[in-house]
Amino acid sequence: MNFELSEEQLAFKDAVRKWVDKEASKSWARELERDEHNYPFALWDKFTEAGFHGVGIPEEFGGQGGDVVMQMILGRELARSLGGLAWIWGITSFAGSKSIGIYGSDSQKRKFLPQIAAGKLRAAIAFTEPGGGTDVLGALRTAAERTQDGWLLRGEKIWSSSAHVADYLLVLARTEKQAAKRHQGVSLFWVPAKSPGVKITPLPKLGMRSMGSCSVHFEDVLLADECVLGEPGRAWYMLLPTLNNERIMVAAFCMGVLDGVLEDALEYMKQRKAFGKLIGEFQILQHYLADIAIWRQAGELLLYYAADLQSKGKPCHTESSMLKVLASDYAVRAADLGIQIMGGMGYSAETDMQRYWRDARLWQIGPITNEMARNGIAENLGLPRSF
Ligand SMILES: Cc1cc2nc3c(=O)[nH]c(=O)nc-3n(C[C@H](O)[C@H](O)[C@H](O)COP(=O)(O)OP(=O)(O)OC[C@H]3O[C@@H](n4cnc5c(N)ncnc54)[C@H](O)[C@@H]3O)c2cc1C
Repeated sequence: MNFELSEEQLAFKDAVRKWVDKEASKSWARELERDEHNYPFALWDKFTEAGFHGVGIPEEFGGQGGDVVMQMILGRELARSLGGLAWIWGITSFAGSKSIGIYGSDSQKRKFLPQIAAGKLRAAIAFTEPGGGTDVLGALRTAAERTQDGWLLRGEKIWSSSAHVADYLLVLARTEKQAAKRHQGVSLFWVPAKSPGVKITPLPKLGMRSMGSCSVHFEDVLLADECVLGEPGRAWYMLLPTLNNERIMVAAFCMGVLDGVLEDALEYMKQRKAFGKLIGEFQILQHYLADIAIWRQAGELLLYYAADLQSKGKPCHTESSMLKVLASDYAVRAADLGIQIMGGMGYSAETDMQRYWRDARLWQIGPITNEMARNGIAENLGLPRSF
């Protein structure tokens, strides 16, 4: 058994942590996200300079290389300071590098991966529809029809994060009306976001501010064949192997939030006084802090375990689902206790606890709700499907 990161992984973690403390401080993150309606292009550009957009992209396509463990380390270190703004890196990494890298054709890889690695292409994911995200196939109304001129895409998506600043949208659409099963006849499109007929509108929301989550309308959007990713009709089969990766990455962000919460709470407890003593001397607050540390330790072990399995190509569907549930539940509970430990200052926009809480709260909902993830875990234990 080995519960340690390798020397190379530790060196990377250390380098990213130093970079974050210098270039992406918590106070800057607060400023960026408070500017709710403006996408933080400056943060994107800093990621570009640091080469982070290339992490996970093979060197032959202009990237830095690196597997899911390296991405997990990067995601966690970014989220420790940036919270939800770590998505500014993560969305294009998922929607672009991961999808093109796994099911793109050779020419799609050669064309798009170097652009992503160089920070010249932003992508967004447009899967969820107004009719529902958990039952994503049951709610799927967006459809693309094959015509003489190409594919004609029609429909509506909701909650597509950063779609308003994206160059490309990764879109799930039905391409066969009469498919025998609903997970058949579904395709993935790589849609130029500025195509005629694409209308994108940001939606107001609780957290994940300034990166914008949008409704997207497709009104007869004409797409060339090269906009199809992978084999038409087989999107669902293509997506399944990427789900573990996504859950591990979301958990990495949650672990970053736990890191940030723990260090901020500890620091505050060491300097705030009440009744003539430090609040860190009160046993109940010590217990709150101990709980946060316990959750962080447990989450870290499962995070390393699931990422290690995934990097070795071993099955980890149950482990990555458990990890996603555990890490997001712990991150929210930790941030909530963090607010309590800091009292009024925890609720203040001048500190980070409320920002961590608002951002982590989403990860109990997306990309898969914790109820649905638990369904899968129970089913893997041999219980009947509950829905
Ligand atoms: C800020 C934000 C950003 C997002 N970004 C993106 C994005 O970039 N791209 C994208 O495609 N989507 C995105 N999403 C959508 C997200 O993935 C969905 O919100 C999520 O999948 C849940 O779908 P829903 O909101 O439609 O909830 P619903 O599916 O309507 O679920 C409502 C409730 O019912 C429960 N439920 C449903 N089915 C079951 C069941 N079988 N058993 C038990 N409980 C069940 C759910 O767990 C939930 O509690 C984002 C959402 C938000 C809020």
